[in-house]
Amino acid sequence: MDPKDIDRIKPFKLVKYFTFTSLVVILAGSLALSMVIANRAETVLLKKSEDYALLMAENLNHQVFLQFIIPAALQFGQVIQLRNKALFNRLDKVVRNTLHSFSVETVNMFDREQNVIFYSFDKKLVGRKGLGGIDYQQALLGKSRSKLIRRGGFWGLMFGAPREGELRTYVPLRAEKPLSNIEGPILGVFEIVQDLSEDYRTIIHFKHRIILTSVAIMGVLFLILRHVVKRGEEIIEKRAQERLLLKEKLSHAERLASLGEMVAGISHEIRNPLGIISSTGELLKQKLAPTDTEVKLADVIVEEADRLNGIVTDFLNFARPQAPNLIPCKVDEVIKKNLTFLAPEINKNSYEVHTRFASDIPEIQADPGLLYQAFLNILMNAMQAMPEGGAIYIELSAHGNTLTILFCDEGPGISDETLNKIWEPFFTTKDKGSGLGLSIVRKIIEGHGGDIEIENAPEKGAQVTVTLPANRVAHRA
Ligand code: ADP
Repeated sequence: MDPKDIDRIKPFKLVKYFTFTSLVVILAGSLALSMVIANRAETVLLKKSEDYALLMAENLNHQVFLQFIIPAALQFGQVIQLRNKALFNRLDKVVRNTLHSFSVETVNMFDREQNVIFYSFDKKLVGRKGLGGIDYQQALLGKSRSKLIRRGGFWGLMFGAPREGELRTYVPLRAEKPLSNIEGPILGVFEIVQDLSEDYRTIIHFKHRIILTSVAIMGVLFLILRHVVKRGEEIIEKRAQERLLLKEKLSHAERLASLGEMVAGISHEIRNPLGIISSTGELLKQKLAPTDTEVKLADVIVEEADRLNGIVTDFLNFARPQAPNLIPCKVDEVIKKNLTFLAPEINKNSYEVHTRFASDIPEIQADPGLLYQAFLNILMNAMQAMPEGGAIYIELSAHGNTLTILFCDEGPGISDETLNKIWEPFFTTKDKGSGLGLSIVRKIIEGHGGDIEIENAPEKGAQVTVTLPANRVAHRA
């Protein structure tokens, strides 16, 4: 088949592209979705952590003021006494008691005047100056602020999934006015540090699970889609091939029909002058004395005219096949008639004809004249395949509703190349053949609803198998 045709019959290629594109789009979509969900989870996490830190700070403020600042002021007259170990331990105890059930990484406390850390979980930070930054300054003005610090790879930060994160919240430390809601003056600043790495890890796991699940679902969907597309492609391809074959058959049949018309016309025109030539030859022969050498020439005229007449008759039979006139017919009788007609030829070349007719051959509905013509062509082919003589086997049997006639010869058989073209009209390997014999035979057999096959016999020579239906109802054409 032309490669262009194959291309044309693959419209499903488009669907394949669609499948791939949709896979990519769906994957990108699920990635974006997981990102949106992760970002939303991060926002919620931050809000909750911030609220948590403020709650902690409020609690801490209350406890530190009541249990530390007031007693310290009473005892030392000074609130923030950095280097006093006893004071530090006291504050440490208050802070740890207050925060023991809270999840917090570090607490730092800054003084009001000098931006100095006077208390921290991390003792190394105590006494350090200037670590407060802008958030410290804002807290001193009474505004609580939170700051998120994220650490992680570029992609982690890009897609809202850092490996580590902490939230630093700055809250003013105020003096409390007991039994009133009025806020007192700002005494310092709390810095509460919460480690969010564990929460981030949960978010990342969640995100991975979303991506994996959507990839798995998409993968299965893609495979199913591919399978469906492939099946569709196969069906379409098969249909297109069938259509192409049918088209070829149709155009072949059309070509044959117009050829047949032409051949029939010409053959008809040739037949009349041919008849005149033949009868003139006969007349010439009669007028000459039998001893004249010209008698031989007259013989040639008659012989060749007869041969030409045979060919023209073949042409006409091929071009205008007769519809079979079905009547009760005994196929064995037809074959016997063929052999009687061929007897002089058979004897001349000493062919051996072996017949084996089953005893239960039923009478069938057929056109004996046409069957006679078909069998004659087959037998003539067998004899022409063995010019030096040989055996011809004819077997007739009946099975169920089918009659089978087998013709075998001991000729050279048929080459593969010839077998490929054997049914083509005008195909012949003989010098004086018309190449129409088997075409006519096939038309006759198929006209009877039968079938014909030609192949090489298992031993040697060719084998023609004709099957005819035995249960046809007769009808007059
Ligand atoms: P023709 O006999 O005029 O050549 P046919 O249509 O009867 O035309 O046969 C076509 C060709 O098939 C023959 O030329 C021959 O090559 C081959 N053929 C037919 N029958 C036989 C056979 N029994 N043995 C070998 N070749 C055969």
